[in-house]
Amino acid sequence: MNQYRELLKNKKRIVVKIGSSSLQHPQTGELDYMKMERLVRQLCDLRNQGKDVVLVTSGAIAAGKKAVHLESLKTNGADNLALKQACSAIGQARLMMTYQKLFAEYNQVAAQILMTKNTIVDNLNRYNAHNTFSELLRLGVIPVVNENDTVATYEIEIGDNDTLSAIVAALVNADLLILLSDIDGLYTDDPRKNPDAQFIEQVDRLTEAHMGMGKASTGSGVGTGGMNTKMIAAKIATSSNLDMIIANSKDIGVIHQIVEGENIGTLFLANPDPSFDLPLFVQQLHKT
Ligand code: GLU
Repeated sequence: MNQYRELLKNKKRIVVKIGSSSLQHPQTGELDYMKMERLVRQLCDLRNQGKDVVLVTSGAIAAGKKAVHLESLKTNGADNLALKQACSAIGQARLMMTYQKLFAEYNQVAAQILMTKNTIVDNLNRYNAHNTFSELLRLGVIPVVNENDTVATYEIEIGDNDTLSAIVAALVNADLLILLSDIDGLYTDDPRKNPDAQFIEQVDRLTEAHMGMGKASTGSGVGTGGMNTKMIAAKIATSSNLDMIIANSKDIGVIHQIVEGENIGTLFLANPDPSFDLPLFVQQLHKT
């Protein structure tokens, strides 16, 4: 076993991100309860091992659209902002209700935290959010995080949960971030378009070349994250001294395999950068 993979066994504070496309049945767009149940079971077992766990979950807008039969509606344009926000208000409550039930089945307490860019950029907000997370984790609670899409308009939105999960991981001083996606990890090019694309098992030091490889999209059509946002997450995570893994969520059991040190997905090694300024970085998101 690779020495770096071996070290993943010792991780104490783990943030797991799951995307909308991983939580839905592709044919119907309805929530995949079997998958959610397996996800929650894995997270509860990590808690039972004495690890701190945070879940960053998408799926609010998708679940809300489904609830009011607007599945085919595009919610990207500014015209539909209010509708998108309404869908997220409907869907976030539904999503959370499902999570609460599942976590309760395994005797764990879950809490909801909804954030915007301001939660990080504003010093007092960030201080308060940090304290809330710390207290929840001290109490053994599993925070379930999403962007506050009901109020997050362009000026204050982070925009995707890959970036959000890395921000959360940095804020709570996690030591591992696991991004579950519909792709196996980082490739030298988009494997769906280029058959010669090579899989990358480990990134020791993130370079501009890696950031460039991230321009390929996951192409799932739901959620907002592509490989590009995953590279931004990798930049935040590794600069903030935490390891990050991108792995395929088609088998949710990967969470356990990763924490057992198995060679799954792409591992980005922590590479602390003392000059990395999280609030400044977040403030500048979307501005470049
Ligand atoms: N926050 C959005 C939602 O819950 C999803 C963002 C994303 O997919 O990255 O629907």
